[in-house]
Amino acid sequence: MRLIILGAPGSGKGTSATVLREKYDLAHISTGDIFRSNIKEQTPLGIEAKSYIDKGALVPDSLTVSMVEDRLSQSDCSKGYILDGFPRTIAQAEALDQMLAKKNEKIDAVLSIVVDDEVIKQRVSGRRVCEKCGASFNVTFKPTKVEGVCDLCGGNVVQRADDNEETVSARLKTYYENTKPLIDFYGSRDLIVEGDNGASAEDCIAQIEEGLMAKNII
Ligand code: AMP
Repeated sequence: MRLIILGAPGSGKGTSATVLREKYDLAHISTGDIFRSNIKEQTPLGIEAKSYIDKGALVPDSLTVSMVEDRLSQSDCSKGYILDGFPRTIAQAEALDQMLAKKNEKIDAVLSIVVDDEVIKQRVSGRRVCEKCGASFNVTFKPTKVEGVCDLCGGNVVQRADDNEETVSARLKTYYENTKPLIDFYGSRDLIVEGDNGASAEDCIAQIEEGLMAKNII
């Protein structure tokens, strides 16, 4: 099964993707995570990407597309995957179409995670992530047992550099301008499965699974 997960920053797409990855044994490809690990390692890609990420802007399509093409050629993707944070522009979606066509593959469904903007702003400013294992917490909604320490692996729990209020507004604007049009792009192919993540992550996953069942994908 090959899935895309779409949603505004802080909508909970990463969390939903993690649940689905475990449950259906999928490779989880988060372009945000790949950029962050390149930034940490100070690779040329990371150094270039950082200037865009810090502003809440998108990393140029040319860099992003070749990074994803490379990732999709790795062997774990043959079991199926969930693309989290890619595509984010129509040009990226068209590039993905071409990558898949070369391999005679297709996307089975596009999961659209829906959450109100005000809820997103609250969630993102309180979000904290583990530097070591990537687990996500929230100072209000899901605090760590010991401040600054990951409940799962004991790693350092920190705020992402781009999770401040100013950058979040820029990221939301970028989402509406560049990424939201993908809902119509994939909607016209009848690929959208919606999950409402306004209240509970469990309900959101249940809605997604119902949608996937209705399309005979699971
Ligand atoms: P995320 O972790 O998905 O919220 O991504 C964090 C940041 O990485 C975004 O705000 C963008 O600056 C950059 N990024 C992630 N995925 C993409 C993409 N597909 N295209 C361009 N930039 C991206």
